[in-house]
Amino acid sequence: MIYLDAAATTPVRREVLEAMWPHLTGDFGNPSSHHGVGESAARALAAARAGVAGVLGCRPAEVVFTSGGTEADNLAVKGIALAAVSGRAVAGAGAVAGARAPDAVSGGRPPRDRHVVISAVEHPAVVESAEYLQRVHGFEVTTVPVDSDGLVVPAEFAAALRPTTALAAVMYANNEVGTVQPIAELAALAREQGVPFHTDAVQAAGWLDLRLDALGVDSLGLSGHKLGAPKGVGALAVRQRVRVEPLVHGGGQERGRRSGTENVAFAVGLAAALTLAEAERAEAAARTTALRDRFIEAVLARVPDARLTGHPTSRLPSVASFTFGATSGEAVLLQLEERGVIVSSGSACAAGDDDPSPVLLAMGVDPVEAQTAVRFTLASSTTAADLDTAADALVASVSALRALR
Ligand code: PLP
Repeated sequence: MIYLDAAATTPVRREVLEAMWPHLTGDFGNPSSHHGVGESAARALAAARAGVAGVLGCRPAEVVFTSGGTEADNLAVKGIALAAVSGRAVAGAGAVAGARAPDAVSGGRPPRDRHVVISAVEHPAVVESAEYLQRVHGFEVTTVPVDSDGLVVPAEFAAALRPTTALAAVMYANNEVGTVQPIAELAALAREQGVPFHTDAVQAAGWLDLRLDALGVDSLGLSGHKLGAPKGVGALAVRQRVRVEPLVHGGGQERGRRSGTENVAFAVGLAAALTLAEAERAEAAARTTALRDRFIEAVLARVPDARLTGHPTSRLPSVASFTFGATSGEAVLLQLEERGVIVSSGSACAAGDDDPSPVLLAMGVDPVEAQTAVRFTLASSTTAADLDTAADALVASVSALRALR
């Protein structure tokens, strides 16, 4: 099997499993317990938090472990926006909650308006969180369009912001077409207006620089299972100055931002995976970019009507995504699987959904063509031989399907 669906998920790395193992067995304590077993778990959790913070260039207290990327995005979008409009929430690194606390980002301002800004290509975790704010809390949601490469145009983003906007969210890299947004530039525009800025870095992790300061973002979301950690763990890094209304209430873990007994082993796994990915990142990104470009060239040359989706250069090293004229993406996927090549038609999150991808529609792709989308996503272990086989299988699959017409 040639697995080219790394953007959907990855297997757990051996080193990650080995790091986790002691915390699933002998060192099983509850980090809140006041005895040696608990204290040992608390130390492991603190080390994991420091490991994640090290890669993100933030303080350990700014890291909130979550159940994954979806929860990280929910906590950022709902938690930061709700805190900004109420002025009553837990400050990022444990400051005391108080009624009408000063504004989080720009200091001393009154609570913000019920207005959020998101891009037109966000993951459903962000889109539906914004829709929830609209439906239940009366927010206005401004969706900033993208160009035909899937890029947010900074001037259009700036025009959507108001000095009273509660939150803006633009993903770092898109999961369907791989387009990488100019996050530092967009975050600077938000900062000029004093608007908290969140970025979903789930797909960027392992490929791009995740340091919060370099990006200038207020919060950043991650998911473990895209990186060789298990499914069901992630993190939200949120700057100390930014207030967050918790979504899960209870024992006050994660400095009140996310209650519930901490998943120590999975936090350890996330930290191990992220640290390894960061150490390997420069080399993996350069090698994978070269393989990706060679594959894209082969597909465009050999498959009639193939069209690359997403930005030609500002894209993740790992993503080669296409449309195929009038040949159903779902049918191509099945044909490829028969030939031992595993890919995805669009994003795994919309699996089973026959509607054309909202991301492609936002990029102006015709709805019929959008249903021909196929995404190949590489891992750092993908080889040139894997991609040669995949290109051959794709040529054979598309011509078999076209012969049926
Ligand atoms: N954000 C993006 C860009 C993603 O690609 C995904 C997963 O596919 C998520 C968020 C959700 O992450 P998780 O599967 O950990 O909930």
